[in-house]
Amino acid sequence: MAIITKLKAYEVLDSRGMPALEAKMELLDGKSVIASVPSGASVGSLEALELRDGGNRYMGRGVLKAASNVNNIIAPAIIGKNVFNFKDIDDVILSLDSTINKEKLGANATLVTSILACKASALVRNCPLYSIFTEADDLIKASNYSFPVPLFNILNGGAHANNNIDIQEFMIVPAGIDNISEAIRSGAEIYAALKNILKEKGLSTAVGDEGGFAPNLSGNKEALDLIMLAVKKAGYKIGEEIYLALDIAATEFYKDGKYNLSSENKVLTSEEFVDVIEELVTNYPIISVEDGMAEDDFDGWKLLTKRLGNKIQLVGDDLFVTNTQILAKGIKQGLSNSILIKANQIGTVSEALAAIKLASLHGYSSIISHRSGETEDTTIVDIAVGTKSGQIKTGAPARGERTAKYNQLLRIYQDFPKMKYAGKSAFQYFKQEILV
Ligand code: PGA
Ligand code: ZN
Repeated sequence: MAIITKLKAYEVLDSRGMPALEAKMELLDGKSVIASVPSGASVGSLEALELRDGGNRYMGRGVLKAASNVNNIIAPAIIGKNVFNFKDIDDVILSLDSTINKEKLGANATLVTSILACKASALVRNCPLYSIFTEADDLIKASNYSFPVPLFNILNGGAHANNNIDIQEFMIVPAGIDNISEAIRSGAEIYAALKNILKEKGLSTAVGDEGGFAPNLSGNKEALDLIMLAVKKAGYKIGEEIYLALDIAATEFYKDGKYNLSSENKVLTSEEFVDVIEELVTNYPIISVEDGMAEDDFDGWKLLTKRLGNKIQLVGDDLFVTNTQILAKGIKQGLSNSILIKANQIGTVSEALAAIKLASLHGYSSIISHRSGETEDTTIVDIAVGTKSGQIKTGAPARGERTAKYNQLLRIYQDFPKMKYAGKSAFQYFKQEILV
């Protein structure tokens, strides 16, 4: 039953129309599972290697080499093995490529196999995928899981959009809503309200890579003002039901030790940029800021954490790249208070789970995240529910590859309505002032 008999990887397309690696694993009883892996655009420099073919096919972005590594190196090593414990398969993968950045096989090759092992493990146990990510014994007890708060990215800038906005992601956070189903409804209604506001103002309603609108605006504050208005128009209470979050992705505009804000025609030192972030956090109900500083601006990160680390969530994405060694160093230095978890930054599910665990041991929160180039695979939802991470970042409530994740949350809700919605408990800090 639980024995792997076949593993085959091949190319499919991601949400940007570029190749993504998908694979199928078959078991002795003839049952099979399919998984695919996503791809980033604003990539941290220390992320695991995403193996691409180069050459002319698909502008060099083919993944035939990664497929070949799955089919010719990983498959022979795991066929015949028992998949009951997915971590056993991850151990084999890690023995084939012990480099921290998966440079031998490619993180796309290792992760697709790792996710398949998780799905196959759930299949042979005859239990939902999320249950294999809990460390609790009682798999049917609702309190061993939780629905994450979705961080809906409804306005896109930076590397994800073709507009003039520097900040990559403007998100709404329905932490003060009662359950996951209503939280998703709020996201969709506010997204629709924002679309109407943009239309009325004659602004573009074309969307960026993660489904958020990508209009040209006068700057970051106008983006926040429009979102505040959309929340209000949709009938929600800002600073009580709905909060705001940013992914600044500052590495993208950090050059020669300075932050180059092109939309506002400003070149700022780290200290000045911390002031800008502080001003935004003071004037808007922002409860989370991701990559506020560049990945190698450690002094900037120290300053930002000192200034805002006991007021709001400060998330390290490019800073930590889901790598426990880098996270451990950052924790020691007191950088940020939260980590973004992207399994393809490290290359196996086990290593991503280890990062969540290390973070939680040190009081850092974890946000389970998609990538800007996504597939229909919804495993991140199960990881968020099963680990009770409390937060998920998976784009706008639009575009099939994003709604695939929200719809998976809604399906789990139908099956298990008693499961708790993490809500405000997922966040350490809340700003009390309500702005209108
Ligand atoms: P990426 O963006 O997938 O393009 O890296 C997502 C993020 O920065 O969080
Ligand atoms: Zn990010």
